Amino acid sequence: LQEQEPKKAYNQDEDIECVLWTAADIEKRVAELGAEISRDYSGIPIVLIGVATGAVMFLADLMRKLSIPVLVDFVRVQSYGNQTQSSGVATISTDVKISIKDKHVLVVEDIIDTGITLSKLVKHLATKEPASVSVCALLDKISRRVIPLQLSEGSRFYRGFECSDNFVVGYGMDFAELYRNLAYIGVLKPDIYS
Ligand code: 5GP
Ligand code: MG
Ligand code: MG
Repeated sequence: LQEQEPKKAYNQDEDIECVLWTAADIEKRVAELGAEISRDYSGIPIVLIGVATGAVMFLADLMRKLSIPVLVDFVRVQSYGNQTQSSGVATISTDVKISIKDKHVLVVEDIIDTGITLSKLVKHLATKEPASVSVCALLDKISRRVIPLQLSEGSRFYRGFECSDNFVVGYGMDFAELYRNLAYIGVLKPDIYS
């Protein structure tokens, strides 16, 4: 063994104040959502559009629970602001690669907070003339909504869990790009970000 500088041992779990949903809670809810979506679309192919990076874990688990044909793509939406609050302005920095014209789209998002990101994205996707644009969000901070989610007729909104007004991390969700790999969702200790 080579002599090495002693490394600081990072224990991400120590930065979590409390766990809101365990890996088992999430797995159960994702399976329910998958069954519901598969039933609603029954045999119709859909394009899953994940909002990177936060939705990667949710999308990966959800797509395994879908028994309908799926295409998968990702977009990036930049919201400038500080690390725990939206600035109020969202821009699409990476667009879809798959053509969604006349296809049924399901946007897969980790969490809806003010609603600014999703409403911008849904409007943007609608300009590409898809057959429909529905939304599946794992978490919804309903109490913080600034812009209501407006979906066209025949579109659906799927919600995993309602979330209290706390900054959460894990299961894809980050603080400063960290904590995404936690298998559970928890509230970050405020002294980490304040
Ligand atoms: P909105 O535009 O709805 O205000 O914010 C949506 C985006 O902000 C989410 O996709 C997510 O990336 C981020 N966000 C909102 N609330 C939280 C939170 O509690 N934790 C984390 N990690 N990200 C959040
Ligand atoms: Mg997101
Ligand atoms: Mg983030």
